[in-house]
Amino acid sequence: MPVSGLGPYDPNNVFARILRGEIPCRKVYEDEFALAFHDINPQAPVHVLVIPKGAYVSFADFSAKASEAEIAGFFRAVGAVARALGLESEGYRLLANMGPASGQEVPHFHVHIFGGRPLGRMLAS
Ligand code: 5GP
Repeated sequence: MPVSGLGPYDPNNVFARILRGEIPCRKVYEDEFALAFHDINPQAPVHVLVIPKGAYVSFADFSAKASEAEIAGFFRAVGAVARALGLESEGYRLLANMGPASGQEVPHFHVHIFGGRPLGRMLAS
């Protein structure tokens, strides 16, 4: 069920539980600002999620409320993860769903990194 992306933060969402170590994940990278792990239902040969450590519902929430250090740290981590995954030469795609029209399902801001094959058009339909 898509989420609004703008409501109050639910501390029991699945990514909050992964951050607290209550649910396992296949971790790729972690630093002060971000955690990256493989998506449980990959849509490409490489499909990794990068999430900020702070409690932000969506990109809208993160971009409006996160500190400059959090924003810089998070996006530097996204780049570091893609680099560490060996995707820079072939290229990759970043995607962040925000709110109902996007189909955002998990109400903790996250960026998808897709790679490992030609990714086709920007939108499926
Ligand atoms: P959204 O549609 O919110 O942008 O994407 C949520 C993503 O989280 C989906 O691609 C889904 O497969 C992934 N996901 C949902 N639950 C879990 C989980 O428990 N572990 C992992 N690793 N990924 C999850």
